[in-house]
Amino acid sequence: MTDTSKDRGLRKQLVSLIKSKGIKDSKVLNAMLNVPRHWFMDPSLNVFAYDDKAYPIAADQTISQPYTVAFQTELLKLKSGDKVLEIGTGSGYQTSILIELGYKVYTVERQKILFNKSQLIFRRLKWKPKKIIFGDGYNGFPDDAPYNGIIVTAGAPYIPKNLLKQLVVGGKLIIPVGVHNQKMTRVIRTSENEFDKETFGNFRFVPLIEDNNSLNL
Ligand code: SAH
Repeated sequence: MTDTSKDRGLRKQLVSLIKSKGIKDSKVLNAMLNVPRHWFMDPSLNVFAYDDKAYPIAADQTISQPYTVAFQTELLKLKSGDKVLEIGTGSGYQTSILIELGYKVYTVERQKILFNKSQLIFRRLKWKPKKIIFGDGYNGFPDDAPYNGIIVTAGAPYIPKNLLKQLVVGGKLIIPVGVHNQKMTRVIRTSENEFDKETFGNFRFVPLIEDNNSLNL
């Protein structure tokens, strides 16, 4: 896997663009500079890696738009060493950005082909998730709960209770909520039974699919 000076130049331009769109956190911008997005793209779409757009990966899913990745990561804002659960591994790009920031990342994917691919890619990269889990993100991942942060990278029709339960007190859930388009939402667990919710603008994600809805009849 190569990272040429041309790739790095394009990445710098992309990061300037994201900054001009309002991302301020220098740690997030630096992580975007350090993780080569072209390594996570479908090879046939490689030349578009530094366009600020979502692109198809396998199984009808997409690698998120870089601005969206930066936006969610900025909202998450935790300390190095904190534990993060990501729902929707997809290409592994967002996962790597989180690891680059020093977080301990657990990531869940429900599409077998993407789960398998991400295992292969992380074997070759320096960014290593603590665990890659094949499963339904609506359940979170109770085995390693609680988490300082949970980030959902697919559009959820509602906020799954299981995810709220797996946050530490003071922990944050970043989740796009809505069916056709989504409001970026941050929920902070303020005590054992209390949560604060804020919303931050509209986005479009592929849906967070609930497995018990997909009956094979
Ligand atoms: N972070 C990824 C985004 C991929 S798109 C990236 O930047 O590449 C969203 C991902 O969520 C898809 O891979 C999709 O298969 C996955 N997904 C959808 N519903 C899910 C669920 N219930 N549990 C886990 N993953 C899910």
